[in-house]
Amino acid sequence: MTAIARTNREPPAGRIEFDRNIRILGLRNKSDLVDIAVRSFLGVAGVRQYINGEEHLRAFIWEVGRHYHNNPYHNFHHAVDTTNVMGWLLTRPAFKNNLPGLYAFVLLVAALVHDVDHPGTDNHWEIKNNSALARKYHNRAVLESQSRDLALWILDSERPEMLAKLSRSDRELFKHLLDVTIIATDFSRHPEFLQELETRLEKGGMDFSHPEGLSLIARTLIKSADISNTSKHYSQAKLWGRRVMREYWAQGRLEKQRKLPLGPLNDQDNINFHLAQAWFIENQVMKLFELLTRMENEVQEAVDALKINLRLYRDSAAHGPWKI
Ligand SMILES: [Zn+2]
Repeated sequence: MTAIARTNREPPAGRIEFDRNIRILGLRNKSDLVDIAVRSFLGVAGVRQYINGEEHLRAFIWEVGRHYHNNPYHNFHHAVDTTNVMGWLLTRPAFKNNLPGLYAFVLLVAALVHDVDHPGTDNHWEIKNNSALARKYHNRAVLESQSRDLALWILDSERPEMLAKLSRSDRELFKHLLDVTIIATDFSRHPEFLQELETRLEKGGMDFSHPEGLSLIARTLIKSADISNTSKHYSQAKLWGRRVMREYWAQGRLEKQRKLPLGPLNDQDNINFHLAQAWFIENQVMKLFELLTRMENEVQEAVDALKINLRLYRDSAAHGPWKI
């Protein structure tokens, strides 16, 4: 039986209940964050067969955490939040019943590592500065490629016990999917991705029985988990939004210092926080989640939250303070 044919139906559902609104930003201790990530893996029944004991899992997560920087947004909190939301997505019926366990395992690992070593400035910054990284990765998915390569190095050299339960063929598929899913978090191809997903759904829904269909589902899940903080309760979503903007504005100050062209959201003096968040939800997030809802009804609660947040951001932009 191939890895693809294995689904995560076999073991009984875990007792761990996922809360996609968990207040991760309030956690100060790394061990609390590691605990949440461990629970995310253990809470998805189909991945347990690939976990080589909780101790090795914990050691891997701890090691990954060591390589996250203390950025306002792209930090270990975001990694753990993305992993927790991935656990929530993977335990919704459509994915729990149809996605192979190995895919679920890769997606949890990808969620955890997808921004590892992120410097707090974006791909445009690397490219504008013709950095060593930009040259190494030929200006394509620069930071995502770096995160992928570091994750593979940790898995191969630092914590090889993490994949010890995977067969040779499962390991090959794991590495291929890790690449595909991490690179999918590069936002520069977001519009094309939405088009690809919509076209596929209009042609008759998602195909869980074929590698191509599974790849598209996996990419949809990682992209959704990555930007899902916009769909949390407004008070939480706003905290994440502030962190994103703080990171962009820090980059904007560097761009001004170096007389480089400013990124569209990076000018602290001319960007309205609430309007920027509303724009992001309306133009980048909503469509992705609406398409995801076509695969799994329970995601509707995230779409409903996005609609509320969009309205609240617009209200705040009209009546509230101009800046955060
Ligand atoms: Zn991310």
